[in-house]
Amino acid sequence: MKKTSLRANPKADSVRMTGSTPGESNPDAMILLHGVVKRFANAAGEFTVLKGVDLTINRGEFVSIVGKSGSGKSTLLNMVTGIDHPTEGQVVVNGKDIYTGVTESQRSKWRGKNLGIVFQFFQLLPTLTLLENVMLPMDFVDMYDFDERPKRAMELLELVGLEKFAYKLPVLVSTGQQQLAAIARAVACDPPLLVADEPTGNLDTRSSDTIIKLFEGFVAQGKTVVMVTHDPSLTSRTHRNIIISDGETIDETVSKCLPQLRHRHMLQFTKIAEERIYQPGETIIARDQSVDHFFMIRKGEVDVVLLDEKNQEYIISHLGRGEFFGELELLRGGKSIANVRAGGAQPVEVVYVPRADFVRVMDESPVTVEAIGKIVQERLEQRRIADHRAGNR
Ligand code: ADP
Ligand code: MG
Repeated sequence: MKKTSLRANPKADSVRMTGSTPGESNPDAMILLHGVVKRFANAAGEFTVLKGVDLTINRGEFVSIVGKSGSGKSTLLNMVTGIDHPTEGQVVVNGKDIYTGVTESQRSKWRGKNLGIVFQFFQLLPTLTLLENVMLPMDFVDMYDFDERPKRAMELLELVGLEKFAYKLPVLVSTGQQQLAAIARAVACDPPLLVADEPTGNLDTRSSDTIIKLFEGFVAQGKTVVMVTHDPSLTSRTHRNIIISDGETIDETVSKCLPQLRHRHMLQFTKIAEERIYQPGETIIARDQSVDHFFMIRKGEVDVVLLDEKNQEYIISHLGRGEFFGELELLRGGKSIANVRAGGAQPVEVVYVPRADFVRVMDESPVTVEAIGKIVQERLEQRRIADHRAGNR
């Protein structure tokens, strides 16, 4: 994303894209990826799977990651867990740069204490009971007194509702129960971070729901949970949803504002878009100004303001994070019929794309046009009511 200013107001601040803070300097961050590139070599030559990913996930966040099959989701998780290593770039997890000057065996111990991993296919050891499976990580990193481990493992099995099956082998319980045991194992050493790769991909809706509830419980205790999923009913329960398209992350403001867009179009907007901060009260679009951009709100509150016959201002709508403006003028052509300005007491961050790109992408995305059309209708109606009220004052 570029960071230049709109010509209308060259004094505006430019902003750092979320996720671009490098190094260990951000104490709120649980995960920091900076310029992460991953290439694989195969018979046909080199193949770039992650194309320079910048990402920050804060402590206590519940984050879902989605993307088409092969887009690089698992590869991205493997960069965070240290299961694989990046070709370029930096990965900081829980304040530690996990690749610079760290040996494989140090990383493995570190992983055991700092993160729990849940896979789609559980990966329980088949010859051990569920209780023994849950005890394994404690043995591996030598956490908790030897004699305490069975008791702790049993408590974890109780937490996931499997105490009755503690002495059974994995093959004797259902797939949903195996996954619950795998989750108990993942949190055995009380890690601050839980990473799950399609944890419900192989399960029925009821088991999926149980698992998400468990994750929500971990988040409520302050843990960070990052989960790759295909299931839209799960992404709606997380704080943030990150989309990966062809090895690149999509700007979250773009995906929140225009969820119907195809991922490749979201990615185009991510690349084209510029960012701006407006101070409270500052004008974003002046009335009668021609509108040349489509604006999406990343942060703060925007007021749309009209004047009545006596030149008194009245606000016809407040827009917030995940909402957009400028679409009416761009789709119908023409000048702004209202003043649009930063409302509220906090600065407003917007992301914007030029008219030509907006129109081009809309031409290829009838579902988005339809969704925007509905919002436009609502806004026109809102405006009509507001006009009417103002006229009657
Ligand atoms: P996703 O989890 O989003 O389905 P992956 O991260 O597993 O995607 O894979 C992304 C791409 O990288 C795929 O084209 C896959 O074939 C390729 N890939 C993944 N792991 C390897 C590997 N170890 N060697 C070569 N190519 C790989
Ligand atoms: Mg995968």
